[in-house]
Amino acid sequence: MEASLGVEMEEPKAFSPPGDRLRADGSLKKHELSVKLPGVKKDIEKLYEAVPQLGNVFKIKEKIGEGTFSSVYLATAQLQVGPEEKIALKHLIPTSHPVRIAAELQCLTVAGGQDNVMGIKCCFRKNDHVVIAMPYLEHESFLDILNSLSVQEVREYMFNLFRALKRIHQFGIVHRDVKPSNFLYNRRLKKYALVDFGLAQGTHDTKIDLLRLVQAEAQQESSSQNKSHRITGNKISLSNPAPKGLDQQPTAKAVVKRPYTNAQVHTKQGKDGKLMKPSKTVDILSRNLATKKKVISTKVMNTGVMRKTASSCPANQTCDCFGTDKVCSICLSRRQQVAPRAGTPGFRAPEVLTKCPNQTTAIDMWSAGVIFLSLLSGRYPFYKASDDLTALAQIMTIRGSRETIQAAKTFGKSILCSKEVPAQDLRKLCERLRGVDSKMSTAADEKQRPGPADPALSEKTGHAAPRHSGSSLHRAGSSGCDSRLAKDTPNLEGWDEVPDEAYDLLDKLLDLNPASRITAEGALLHPFFKDRNL
Ligand code: ADP
Ligand code: MG
Repeated sequence: MEASLGVEMEEPKAFSPPGDRLRADGSLKKHELSVKLPGVKKDIEKLYEAVPQLGNVFKIKEKIGEGTFSSVYLATAQLQVGPEEKIALKHLIPTSHPVRIAAELQCLTVAGGQDNVMGIKCCFRKNDHVVIAMPYLEHESFLDILNSLSVQEVREYMFNLFRALKRIHQFGIVHRDVKPSNFLYNRRLKKYALVDFGLAQGTHDTKIDLLRLVQAEAQQESSSQNKSHRITGNKISLSNPAPKGLDQQPTAKAVVKRPYTNAQVHTKQGKDGKLMKPSKTVDILSRNLATKKKVISTKVMNTGVMRKTASSCPANQTCDCFGTDKVCSICLSRRQQVAPRAGTPGFRAPEVLTKCPNQTTAIDMWSAGVIFLSLLSGRYPFYKASDDLTALAQIMTIRGSRETIQAAKTFGKSILCSKEVPAQDLRKLCERLRGVDSKMSTAADEKQRPGPADPALSEKTGHAAPRHSGSSLHRAGSSGCDSRLAKDTPNLEGWDEVPDEAYDLLDKLLDLNPASRITAEGALLHPFFKDRNL
C-alpha cells in the first residue's frame, strides 16, 4: 500500500489551537445541541414515531450527543417507582449493520457495568430503528475543563481510563475509538465511563462472539468492494461506501451536521479508494501549496515480507512514481490492503495509520497516550489531521522520524520520509505548550525553552500563546459566556512539579512499536500511580 503526501512542517507543537471550539470529533457542545440547533424537537418527535414503545417508558428531554453513527438523548424513566431515573437513549443510525449493532450490545452486556465501562439497561427495536438505553452519566466537556484540572485529577482520570481499558481488553475487545468524547467524566462525582463500542473489534481470542462475526462480515464486504472499483485514468470511484467496521464513512445525516468530520471524510473518500494513490490530485495540491515552506513528505509501503502475506503486490517490483503527479502501472496493479482504520485520525496509532493488518489492543493504549498528551500539554485536540499521512507526519514531529521509520519496520511497513525530524523531549514540549515553569528544569533548559508568551511560537503556530489565562479569556470571549471563565479558571496545582513518572508513562504509551507499548494492566502498575490516593 502506498500513498504520498506533502505535509507542512512547523515548530513541533500541538496541532490545534488552545480553546478550539470544535471538538476533535467535530461534535458540538451539549447546550448547542439541545438549544441552538433547530430541529432537535422534531428529531425527538420522529424518534417517538419510529420507536413508539419508547413513549410508554420514557420522557425524552433533550439531545445530548450527535455522534457519527448515532444520536443520543437524555430521557427520564416514567414508570419508575420513586425518584425519576435519568437514562441515555442512543438511537443508532438505521443503516447500521445488524451484526455491528448486535456486537455493540454484546460488548455492553458482557463487559459493561463495572470498572468504568458503561453498562446497559435495555434495548428497543422497531424495524431498522434500534435504541440502546443506558444509565445516564452527566459529564464534562473535555475542552472546558482541560486547563483547570490539577495534576492529581489528571492522574485519577488516566488511572480510571486504564481500569476501563484493562476490563475490555480482558474480554478481547479492541475499542478502536478511545478519545475524550467516548470516555465520560463527571468531575464532581469522580465518575467515569467508557462508551461507544460502535467500532469495536475482537482480538483473535475475543470472548465476544459477535465481534468475530463482525470481522467476517467486514472482510466479506471489503472483498466484494474490491471488485466494484471503476478506474478512469488516475481517478478511482467507489460504487458504495466502506462498511463501518473498516473505513468509517458517516451518512448524509452526519455530513450535513458535522463540518469537520465532513471534511475529513471527503478526503478519505478519495484516498480510501481501493488503489494506491487515489487522491493524487489532493496530494499534489497540498505539496504545491507548501513548496516555499519546510515540507515533510511521507510515503508508506509494505515491506516485501508483509506484501507476501497481506497484499498481492509483487515484492520485487518497486515503483518510481513517488513525488510525481502520475500513478505508475505497478501501483495501479496493486490490490488494496485490508486493514481496519476505524477511529479518529488524531488518535490513531502508527500501525493503524500505516494500515498494518495485525492490530491489537495496543492501539487503544496509543489513543490513551494521545489523551494524556493533551492533559499534560493543555492542548486539545493535540493532533488534528484530516488524513492518515498528515497524522503520521505529525506523530513524527513529536516522536522523531527515524524512530517512527524504525518502529514501522517491526510491523512490516516501510516509510519514506523526505526530511529528518528529531524526537521531542516530552516534558519540555508539554511545559512549553502549557507555559509553566518547572522547578525541575535545569538552568540550561531554562535558557533554551521559549517563554510562555514567546512571540515566535505564537506567530508560527498562528494562535494565542499557550497560557492558561490567555486561553480562558479567549474562550470566554468567543463564547460570550461568563460562566466559562469561572469554569476555566486555571489550576496551577502541581503543574510546576509534574513528576518524571508522568512523562515516563506518556513515553511508554506513545511507544511507536505496538509490541513493546505498555498494556492497560502494566499502566495501572506504573510508578505514576504508586502511593497515590486513587
Ligand atoms: P457515537 O457512536 O455516535 O459516537 P456515543 O456512544 O459515543 O455515540 O455517544 C455520543 C455522545 O453521547 C457521547 O460523546 C456522550 O456525550 C453522550 N453519551 C453517550 N452515552 C451516554 C451516557 N450513557 N450518559 C451520558 N451521555 C452519554
Ligand atoms: Mg462516540
